[in-house]
Amino acid sequence: MSFNNHLIFSLFCCIIFIKYFCLKYNINLLILILFSLFSSLLPDIDHINSFIGNKFKNISYFIYKIFGHRTITHSLIILYLLYILIFNIKFLFYNISISIKYGVFIGYLSHILADMLTIKGINFFWPFKIYFKFPYFNIKNRKLEYYICLFLLFLSIFLENIICILKILFKNIYLI
Ligand SMILES: [Zn+2]
Repeated sequence: MSFNNHLIFSLFCCIIFIKYFCLKYNINLLILILFSLFSSLLPDIDHINSFIGNKFKNISYFIYKIFGHRTITHSLIILYLLYILIFNIKFLFYNISISIKYGVFIGYLSHILADMLTIKGINFFWPFKIYFKFPYFNIKNRKLEYYICLFLLFLSIFLENIICILKILFKNIYLI
């Protein structure tokens, strides 16, 4: 998936998190979104032509040569390690705000979910070769990928309003 689609999908995940999962946390939206956007680009460090791989060519080349593309950086192992690093090892990031922590984790997770929309899918249980992809979204076309990410973002922002409008419409139809 392309760089800009990952950014859009990461924004979509942030909005879902803010709306439905973060009731008990005092989250700074701007910080959460900024860190999520940045973090959503990190897994593709294993690809030298990706935005982040291009910035850190040596690291990117090293990871690609040892593991290959969409392997360890797109796996459950790295997600688990990231989770432990961010949330469980208290002394490491003791003073870091919860908005940054969640931003980084959501961004990274969003990248893996977004790659599941692509035709190749992701090797989530790497080193075992079991590929995961959403069954009805095996997208080859970059433009379509872009429109689906935009549509999801639109839905995440306006879903409640759309439901509300539909309810009013159906109520009126019923009354007629
Ligand atoms: Zn990727």
